[in-house]
Amino acid sequence: MASHHPSLITNSAIPQATMKIAIFSTYQYDEQFFNRFNTGHTLTYFVLPLNEQTASLTKGFDAVCIFVNDIVNTAVLNALHANGIKLIVLRCAGFNNVDVKAADDLNIPVLRVPSYSPEAIAEHAMALILTLNRKTHKAYNRVREGNFSLEKLMGFNLHNRKVAVIGTGNIGKAFCKILKGFGCRINAYDLYPNQELISLGVTYDTLEATLQDADIISLHCPLLDSTRHLINEQTLKLFKRGAMLINTSRGALINTADVIKALKSGQLGYLGLDVYEQESKLFFRDYSEDVIQDDLITRLISFPNVLITSHQGFFTAEAMEQIATTTFANIDAFVEGKALVNRATI
Ligand code: NAD
Repeated sequence: MASHHPSLITNSAIPQATMKIAIFSTYQYDEQFFNRFNTGHTLTYFVLPLNEQTASLTKGFDAVCIFVNDIVNTAVLNALHANGIKLIVLRCAGFNNVDVKAADDLNIPVLRVPSYSPEAIAEHAMALILTLNRKTHKAYNRVREGNFSLEKLMGFNLHNRKVAVIGTGNIGKAFCKILKGFGCRINAYDLYPNQELISLGVTYDTLEATLQDADIISLHCPLLDSTRHLINEQTLKLFKRGAMLINTSRGALINTADVIKALKSGQLGYLGLDVYEQESKLFFRDYSEDVIQDDLITRLISFPNVLITSHQGFFTAEAMEQIATTTFANIDAFVEGKALVNRATI
């Protein structure tokens, strides 16, 4: 180990590295998978996120590797460019946190992992639905306290329920296949209907019609200017009273304040979130001994019909392996001057 700074661990065991890569927002599990699948680069792990305050740390590196809550805006890009960074690799699919156009202008390619184990996220969406519906988290605690009562644990059958799937790309498609196994009826909305899903019995409709008709609405579209706050006061009014909303995609697809109002009025019956608009200040860290300053998330946590996980949809061994291998394949393609097939484009 070359350095023991608490926020910095250098892997110097690799003899002939071709790229010096600064990897931001890392935890022990990132190091474990990146060290295991490294194809010969020098990896330096930073616990800190990449943003305007930390961009200066990239001096002397060739590339940066970032995750969902690192911020690469124009100011950060200018600092990276000045420090000689030639490549940005995202170890995730979404790239809403990077100004790709500004990176293009600076001739810094942005590569991502477009599809890694879509089943990992689709299965987590189903876990949120099953837990919210059958209240297994409450039953677990009750039984541990010797309380074997069933009062207030009643759920509903998923069989024959209507589910709205918003976005039927890699993850939405995997999710539809899981829903089919539960006997759900699926009505989807996407700009590009998927023929394979249609042949499996999935129907497509307008966004409004899809939302109006559903018992459960699950979001699987990317965060774009056109999808920001897709779920807001107006669209929530279209929901069936008491419907369930699941978001495992990106927090800003939902206007959190509007969703809180809908929960208070009963218009929204259940909410399952793996992502949250202000998650970058909270997620992946332990604040159990601190006073949380974000009043929206504390309000959300207080509802009995809300379940929040901290962006763990991707977190399976299979997905971590695919993220690491694709990230190194992206880096190697850049080093070897090959086609950059996983380039983020807008
Ligand atoms: P994808 O690109 O394969 O699919 C996205 C789909 O959304 C496409 O079919 C696209 O046509 C559709 N779409 C685009 N704009 C739309 C709109 N306005 N309305 C409806 N549909 C629209 O992406 P994916 O791999 O399925 O991932 C989806 C999202 O999931 C990502 O953008 C990412 O934000 C999120 N994600 C979350 C986690 C997690 O850990 N929770 C992990 C990976 C990805």
